[in-house]
Amino acid sequence: MPRMEIYDTHAHFGNDEAETATTLDRARAAGITRLMAVGGSDELNAAALLAHRLRPDDVRLALGADRDQTSRPADETLADIRRLHAANACAAVGEIGLDFHYSPETSSAQCDLFARQLALADELGLPVVIHTRDADDATLGVLDEVPWRASALRGIIHCYTGTPSFARSLLDRGFMVSISGIVTFRLADNVRASAKYVPDDRLLVETDSPFLAPVPLRGKQNEPAFIVHTVSFLANLRGIPAEALARLTFANAVSLLG
Ligand SMILES: [Zn+2]
Repeated sequence: MPRMEIYDTHAHFGNDEAETATTLDRARAAGITRLMAVGGSDELNAAALLAHRLRPDDVRLALGADRDQTSRPADETLADIRRLHAANACAAVGEIGLDFHYSPETSSAQCDLFARQLALADELGLPVVIHTRDADDATLGVLDEVPWRASALRGIIHCYTGTPSFARSLLDRGFMVSISGIVTFRLADNVRASAKYVPDDRLLVETDSPFLAPVPLRGKQNEPAFIVHTVSFLANLRGIPAEALARLTFANAVSLLG
């Protein structure tokens, strides 16, 4: 069987250099020849930068401020993110977005931070990495209100857990949809329906490690090497060979992120 090459479009890291290096070694040994290290807070941004520095050829970089970064004034946060992007070659702005499941009380500050980073991504000419949970309408509202690439939206809806109809709304706005190990979970019929619905040319895969290890490794600390289980499961679900699924998601990721 030919060795698969897989692109994990969403992985977080910690600040232990030796641990990040061995995690990246295991990823490469498992065929994950490219991945995107994703930030979202001061700590996650620093950890993503470390992973990128260790493996500049394999690791793409996304830096940004996520929905939990609303306690500081948005002007200060934006200035930090802008500085990070000026100093580092990034593939995307992220992760950014909305979570009304865990933090409904900060919803308007989340929308503001999200909107400002969409505008920043537009200015920098970069795609965005979007988290959205229990915030379908607000996510579409911000995307449609911000004068952001009116005709050329680019980006990823990461760790997709929404319905096929919300996926349709996002696909119509030009986004790619990234499927995580949740698709393997027993109770995730809705995610499986969406994972079947997304067309070949818009589909991506990710670990969202260190969270959400796929079955049969559920409960362990997730890492990019574990994505092989998600790829096999998703290929089976879509009725194509795993190699074909790996190839098409790799090509989609390269077209967006390099
Ligand atoms: Zn994430």
